Amino acid sequence: MDSLRLKKTMNLKTSIELSFSGKLILLLLVFTFSGTDITFSAESTGVIVTLEDYDGPATVSVESLERFKIEIHIDRKTDRNPLTLVVQLPNTGRKTWPFYEVVVLDSSGQAVSVKRAGIAWHKLWITAPANQSDFVIRAVNRPSQQPKTFPEKDRYVSDTTTGLSAMISLWPDGREAALSLRFDDSHPTHLTKVIPILREYGFKGTFMVNPGGRDEHSANSRSMSAFQRHLSEWKAVAKRGDQEFANHTAHHRGAKNNAEMESEIGDAAKVIWELFPNKSKLHALNLGGGTYWETSRPLRYYLDKYHAFDVSGSLGMDDVYGNRVQAFRQHIERHVERKLWARVHFHDIGDNHGSSEEHFRAAMDIAKEHETKLWIAGMADIYKYQTERRAATLALEESQPGAVTLRLSCSTRPKLFDQALTIELSLPKSWARSRVIVLNAGGKQITTRERQQEGADQLLFNVPPTNGRFSITRNP
Ligand SMILES: [Zn+2]
Repeated sequence: MDSLRLKKTMNLKTSIELSFSGKLILLLLVFTFSGTDITFSAESTGVIVTLEDYDGPATVSVESLERFKIEIHIDRKTDRNPLTLVVQLPNTGRKTWPFYEVVVLDSSGQAVSVKRAGIAWHKLWITAPANQSDFVIRAVNRPSQQPKTFPEKDRYVSDTTTGLSAMISLWPDGREAALSLRFDDSHPTHLTKVIPILREYGFKGTFMVNPGGRDEHSANSRSMSAFQRHLSEWKAVAKRGDQEFANHTAHHRGAKNNAEMESEIGDAAKVIWELFPNKSKLHALNLGGGTYWETSRPLRYYLDKYHAFDVSGSLGMDDVYGNRVQAFRQHIERHVERKLWARVHFHDIGDNHGSSEEHFRAAMDIAKEHETKLWIAGMADIYKYQTERRAATLALEESQPGAVTLRLSCSTRPKLFDQALTIELSLPKSWARSRVIVLNAGGKQITTRERQQEGADQLLFNVPPTNGRFSITRNP
């Protein structure tokens, strides 16, 4: 049902509920005038609410209260049993909910514990005890921790006096796209095979580790985790500093309450911070496939507290999915074309493991082939660059023949966001590349790299992601 035509003359905004085969989809009707008739476009909020495995008399209804806030009512009729609601929030497209910010409140306004799968945070299981029939689901209004972002045009400067133009490069060093190579579960083959192979290629991988020690919740509680058994080797990798570690939670087993969730994420974060004492605390988090998490808090609480970020969407590289080498090539080429961040993830590598060494090497060969266009980096490196760049602007401060001053503004926190930004200069035809000098506000000369891009001479240079001023001078 996409449009309705009704002969009414009032402006109307309302919601209707459709119920079919136990599913309930909330629709919003937005009315616009069109001549004497009114054209109605029915726009679904896309939220789907069902009762899990249920064929009793109870029904559910949903009302939209405001943007990212709905109320669910269970009409129990004769049913006096606890019921389980399954709520799916839209996770793609225009109607996407900010589901890391979502809480569920009962009729007294108390946040209730909600179960979710580690890699599908938009799907919620809510247990409704016999005495609870109303719930509000909403995205919390948290104080703005995210830096303000700016439109693309604010990162581009064109000077009419000199003919010089400048921009903050889409990706470091003028590359066209980014690629992260992720390895999950701290498997011993990461130490014996993956890291040595990555070093052959000169690539940085992101290792999603489960660094927890003995797990008192596990049936096999006396066994040590793979990470702890090989702790000295992981320490040596961290010390060398050419690979990135990320948070796959302490034990890869989910959590039954807030306290467990806090320690699963927090304990893993602390191990990583200790292994990289001089690095930014910002790191990638992935809660792990096959795990379930019960918490009354929004995921954002844990992300903020432990300086973690979760970037979903990644190409699985296990051989069991079939044709992985070809899929890898297509994935990279599609992301280069769209100038985006391509993410892939592996598990263990070797014979009778997730990916064969042959397939892994074939994928790395393809990455190498694209290396001039592709920034192959750690997930935190890429996340930092992307976040900093969106929060940055470039402006022309001063210009005279032969000299330009640019001002960079960047509002990310330098303690966490420390990935250098690249500035790309397109020089006027009359400026010889070799005679151009770039100085920072302190008068220190900045190293530049020359390149030809679409027939124009370019200079590229890296700057810290903070407020800064740069003067560009053509020497006679
Ligand atoms: Zn995992």
